Amino acid sequence: MKVGIIGGGQLAKMLVESDNSNEYFILEPNEINCCMDLNVNIINKNYDDKIAIDNLVTNTDVITYEFENIDSDALKKYFNLVKPSINFLEISKNRIQEKNFAKENGLLTTKFFLVENKKDIETLLNKNDITYPFILKTLSGGYDGKGQYKINNYNEIESVNFISNKYILEEFCEFDYETSLVVTRSNSNQIYFFPNAINKHENGILITSKVTNKKVTVDKKTIKIIKKVLVDLNLVGTVAFEFFVKDNKFYFNEMAPRVHNTGHYTLDGCNVSQFKNHILAITNKKIIKPKLKYKTIMINLLGENIKTNFDCNWVKKYDYHKKGIIKNRKMGHINIIAKNQKDLLDKYNQVKKILGGLND
Ligand code: AMP
Repeated sequence: MKVGIIGGGQLAKMLVESDNSNEYFILEPNEINCCMDLNVNIINKNYDDKIAIDNLVTNTDVITYEFENIDSDALKKYFNLVKPSINFLEISKNRIQEKNFAKENGLLTTKFFLVENKKDIETLLNKNDITYPFILKTLSGGYDGKGQYKINNYNEIESVNFISNKYILEEFCEFDYETSLVVTRSNSNQIYFFPNAINKHENGILITSKVTNKKVTVDKKTIKIIKKVLVDLNLVGTVAFEFFVKDNKFYFNEMAPRVHNTGHYTLDGCNVSQFKNHILAITNKKIIKPKLKYKTIMINLLGENIKTNFDCNWVKKYDYHKKGIIKNRKMGHINIIAKNQKDLLDKYNQVKKILGGLND
């Protein structure tokens, strides 16, 4: 089939690499991008360029996308061709909408409020609806910790820009750990979850995803709700739901209408990757039931860490071939694989030494 992808970053690259039985067309304004060395057709136009989108549609059988901050209006007239569904994309683009959506569907959330100015925050504080610390996040556009501020005291509110932004104010969750449910639905309603990793973030950026021996048992109700949401929205493809876990309760944090960084471990850890199942699903094929092949730890290679050589066959390195090394930019990742927990942790400790330490 002919598959159109909006965005030419690392997720698009891994989607293309997962299945070479299709022809790919990538809409990406930057001439230098992660897909430029692949055997694909690249349309160098803006993501919201209506003529370029028409062109993409004319050339392809299905359209998918690798990030949520795209102009869904330009895509609306092609509603049936876009997977995952535009409905899901639109909800997940706005942090208040997605939290309300999660709540309405019965998922637990921590406390959250829409705030438009300092006064709104003062009112919440005065009513004791919220206490320090709390988190402010821009309603849309933020990723990898951008547009996110942990507020510890009154003075820190002063520095927040309310002129160009509204925010979601979230209670700070002292979670035990974070996890994410990466799940694929096919157009024949197969729904398969990948084994879920325990994720560690620092300053809002994912550092590691670990699938080790520690069992992360997700409660049946959460799974049932997610399945229902996928069916209700007639969603086809791979998406992710992120949770804070505290006292064995799963609090919805956010969702992504696309393959997810916390699912990168599946490239080596599972019999099928999140990327492959996404492509199978959107090209109307049967998806594969994920099984864990190896205990796996994924480590993001940020900035200069991409230059590190790991001279061993149990470290699988993925270089996104981004031009320009920038501090904290995701330049690639590695998957460390092992058959048992002890071996995995030994290997992990070796890698940590090579990287000069990791905060985890
Ligand atoms: P997000 O972009 O919302 O996924 O946030 C990135 C990361 O920041 C999360 O994975 C958490 O580690 C942290 N974080 C975000 N919101 C909260 C919160 N309300 N309480 C505690 N930590 C948070």
